[in-house]
Amino acid sequence: MAELRCVTVQQPWAALEALGLKPVEIRGVPMHYRGLLGIHAGQTCDPRALRDPLVLEALDGLRSTGRRDIRLTCGAVLAVANVVDCHRAAPYAPDRTCCQPWGWVTYGGKTAQHIVLTDVRRLTAPVPCRGSQAMPWRAPEDVAAAVWAQLEPTWQLVNTAAEARAMFGGAEQANYIAGRQLPDEEWRWVIDFPDGGRTTLWVGATEADVAAEIANWRPEREPEETQ
Ligand SMILES: [Zn+2]
Repeated sequence: MAELRCVTVQQPWAALEALGLKPVEIRGVPMHYRGLLGIHAGQTCDPRALRDPLVLEALDGLRSTGRRDIRLTCGAVLAVANVVDCHRAAPYAPDRTCCQPWGWVTYGGKTAQHIVLTDVRRLTAPVPCRGSQAMPWRAPEDVAAAVWAQLEPTWQLVNTAAEARAMFGGAEQANYIAGRQLPDEEWRWVIDFPDGGRTTLWVGATEADVAAEIANWRPEREPEETQ
């Protein structure tokens, strides 16, 4: 089970990020970390944000679509996103920058840093946890396990060496598959786990093997299942 890094974000910003509405987190210092990141809602709410027309519009838009699950949960990991970039706010004008409409020019008196989030996956059950000001911080093992357990692995069948090359690019696995010169009808499964791990099952593996691999990876959800 992979580690989980998180950032603590004040509400309602955390909710907007967890819902995929705000794909940029604003800070006064750069984040050098890239990869999967838990969006953790802190214990406090940013009162100014609740008067921000942009925020109110976003939340109203959700309510008008019948979403009744918009709650500003505090003190929990709400979602996992992928950090793909962090850049200084581009100074287009004193009050205008990139990453609109959410990008800020300054943050805490400094040039703002825009942390770009993609592939946001919201958790159906937020995982309670203490936050931290570190950028990012490492979630305790039980928290990480509870987060990964809510995200579904995906898997696909790779039938041909050409498909394998397309999937892996120039990676070692593609060369390995191609090098074995297996007949096209031979099966290989590639399983992508939510924590970024990837497992390949070789020739002869069946869907049952895939299920077993996933069960093996997924932490036990219920204590009685451990017996
Ligand atoms: Zn930007």
